[in-house]
Amino acid sequence: MTKNKFHPQTLSVRAGSEMTAYGENSEALFLNSSFRFDSAAQAAARFGGSEPGNIYSRFTNPTVTVFQNKLAALEGAEQCVATSTGMSAILACVMGLCSAGDHIVASRSIFGTSVQLFSNILARWGLHVTFVSLTDLAEWQSAVTDHTKLFFVETPSNPLTEVCDIAALANIAHQVGAYLVVDNCFCTPAIQQPLALGADIIIHSATKYIDGQGRCLGGAVLGSKVLMEPVYGFLRTAGVTMSAFNAWVFLKGLETLYVRMDAHARNALALASWLEQQPGVARVYYPGLSSHPQHALALRQQSSGGGIVSFEVRTKAGQTPQQAAWALIDATKLISITANLGDAKSTITHPATTTHSRVTAEARAAAGIVDGLVRIAVGLEHIDDLKADLSMLTALA
Ligand SMILES: *Cc1c(COP(=O)(O)O)cnc(C)c1O
Repeated sequence: MTKNKFHPQTLSVRAGSEMTAYGENSEALFLNSSFRFDSAAQAAARFGGSEPGNIYSRFTNPTVTVFQNKLAALEGAEQCVATSTGMSAILACVMGLCSAGDHIVASRSIFGTSVQLFSNILARWGLHVTFVSLTDLAEWQSAVTDHTKLFFVETPSNPLTEVCDIAALANIAHQVGAYLVVDNCFCTPAIQQPLALGADIIIHSATKYIDGQGRCLGGAVLGSKVLMEPVYGFLRTAGVTMSAFNAWVFLKGLETLYVRMDAHARNALALASWLEQQPGVARVYYPGLSSHPQHALALRQQSSGGGIVSFEVRTKAGQTPQQAAWALIDATKLISITANLGDAKSTITHPATTTHSRVTAEARAAAGIVDGLVRIAVGLEHIDDLKADLSMLTALA
């Protein structure tokens, strides 16, 4: 199928699909570990690489291949390497492309576990990491060393939804011979396509919006064939492979990705606009609001504000900010209290005591993650039911 003839919505439903001899209309699930050869000579040719084809599901599996090809079509990437989780996608990317002595410049506002992976684990193997402000491009520039190999960002950031100028950052990276890696988990290709903006590599936690219904763990690394070759080489040797079953679930998720992301964003914008009007809310963070400091940039590089909204709860007399935030969270009956995101079910979390509790209080304050901050990953319920669940915010005293 020639990829570029179709709209992205059509690609999400159709791209990558391969039928077996049975003519199934929904992709088959190949739940097998190894593949048979017609002869010893064919086995040798497959292992030697002179004949393409499947050998063993740690390397390739037809269901995983269809998932990879579909996601690559949506991101406009030459190649996709599917992994067991989002974290193993980041690990495979770094292990494939970096060596001891190399340096990474990363945004301070990345997923907490990514910070731990860089600082506590990869650092033991001789990788150096400098953390900088997501939005201060001069800081990126001055953090560069002779050994800088990768720039690593997430945009919009979690939980404050700060937006980074991907094209400008890619320029800086390329001037110093580094690759720009964008973790595109919050937007998905339905909202933002980092490669088209100049980034070199995309990371996904498929666990989030690609699944979309909170079922499976998975991840992906995408980029040019040249960059993905060593990433795939790491994966097939180290075994951080995506399971065929999970790939099959993610394939179904991708078919509805555009419809879901539109609905998530519509609900999130409606909720963010409503929150801005409530006496119990001090401040709302959502890129789709004109009050967002980088609203214009967000509109330029994203097709919507996405599904994540954060806000500061106003404290009542005698309450600490944390008590105010916890009181709101505990008053919800519909929205799930969990730190996961990208689910049809709306989720609510208190970043200061959950996702960001391992960050020191000073670093949290510097990053603006105050004790009164609440994050909602807006799901697909009716907007009026979500507002009703947060009705505590409609009154001040
Ligand atoms: C969840 C998440 C990850 C890690 O993904 P897992 O599938 O949980 O390993 C990485 N980056 C971002 C932005 C995430 O939200």
